[in-house]
Formats: sequence, structure tokens, C-alpha cells
Amino acid sequence: MPKHFALVPAAGSGSRFGAEVPKQYLEAAGKPLIFHALAALCRCPQIAEVWVVLSAGDAWWAEVDVLSLGGKLRPVFCGGATRAESVANGLAALSAHLAADDWVLVHDAARPCLSAAMLDALFDELKDDPVGGILAVPVADTLKLADAAQRIAETRLRDGLWQAQTPQMFRFGLLRQALAAHPGVTDEAGAIEAAGLKPRLVRADVSNLKVTFPADLRLAELILQGRKS
Ligand code: C5P
Repeated sequence: MPKHFALVPAAGSGSRFGAEVPKQYLEAAGKPLIFHALAALCRCPQIAEVWVVLSAGDAWWAEVDVLSLGGKLRPVFCGGATRAESVANGLAALSAHLAADDWVLVHDAARPCLSAAMLDALFDELKDDPVGGILAVPVADTLKLADAAQRIAETRLRDGLWQAQTPQMFRFGLLRQALAAHPGVTDEAGAIEAAGLKPRLVRADVSNLKVTFPADLRLAELILQGRKS
């Protein structure tokens, strides 16, 4: 039976956030964002191991209280210059442990509000899928294209548009090949699409947000505190 593995790229510097600490180590609801992201994956009974890709000079990981996350965690210090490179390096580290048809769930360390229900939806909808897929939400707002002066150059139809989230779940062999052939993509689904396949969109909701700017951190805090109480 194919197994499920999680791969968490966590080697970013979080420069858009503007904090001294990489954003995955900022705290919400009393724990670093990376802790919440890893906890959701480690608690999931279908996931066998959770691999975390850290940068070689990571000075913060040692401070994270990972003991309570159990025995599934596998930190590797092989982060790259881009997210895609960190994922590719992580897949290379995994290669000795996985079969080509094992599933890999790539999940951003900066998405702390992943829920058990979202993971269940991913597993339910993709278990017999020949390609794999991603969590995503339909775009709710009208989209505007900006010009250089930050004025509206064009209105884009939102019909049929979805916002990609993570986890993105694909078979290990397919994902590794696709990323090697298409290294410039910004997410795993992009590589699978470039290989000519159509990943499935599994509906999640906006609570699975990625923390990029300070306001996102406040939202994540509210969501996590709300779940606690
Ligand atoms: O910067 P961005 O929000 O796209 O980062 C998404 C995820 O990718 C974060 O968890 C971040 O730590 C990770 N990342 C990485 N290596 C990089 C850049 C980002 O692992 N060089």
C-alpha cells in the first residue's frame, strides 16, 4: 500500500513580512507558526512521516518545542534559495525512503491553520486520483490588474478562478520528475501542469491562509485562538 509523507518547506527568510525572525518562527496563539503547521500534519493518522526542510544556518529551529509532536518529525537542513529549490532538495533527501507511488503532501510552514477536516477532504477526494491535487478556494472578489501607477488597467473575470493553497498532494515519482523538468514554477501543481496533467482542486476555505504580511498574523491568531476555545 502506498504511504503518505508530508514535506514542509521552512527555509524562507520571510522578507516580505519585514520581521527580524523568519515568519515561520513568529508566534500565534502561544506557539511558532511552524509548530502549528507541523502539529496538524503530525496529528494526522494517515501521514507516516513529516519532513521539514530548514536552511543550513537556521538558528531558530532548536528553540521550537517539538517533543510534543511525537516521533514522525524528520528535520533536514538542506533549504535552497527559492521555495522550489527547498522542495526539490527535500524530495532528494526523501528519495532513499519513498517508493515512486507513495504520496507526498507539500505544505508551507507559514500556513498554521490547516485543519483535520481539510486534510480529510484532501485524502477522500484524491485517494483514487491518477494525478493528485491541491487545497484551494474559489476567488470571491473581483480581480483588478494594476498599472505602474497603481491604477486599474483592467478588470479580470473571477469565474472559474481559484486561489491555490497547500498541502499539494502528488505521487513522489511524478512530482520529482515534474519539478526536475520544470524548476521555475512557484508551486508543485505548476510543475504537474507543465508536465501536461490536470491536478484536482479540493475545496478548502480561507482560514487556511498563508502568513505573508503582519495583518495575516493577526488573522491566524484569531483563528487559532477561536479553535482553542
Ligand atoms: O515566501 P513564501 O510565503 O512563498 O514561502 C512559502 C513557504 O516556503 C514558507 O514556509 C517558507 O519558509 C518556504 N521557503 C523555503 N525556502 C525558500 C523560500 C521559502 O523553504 N528559499
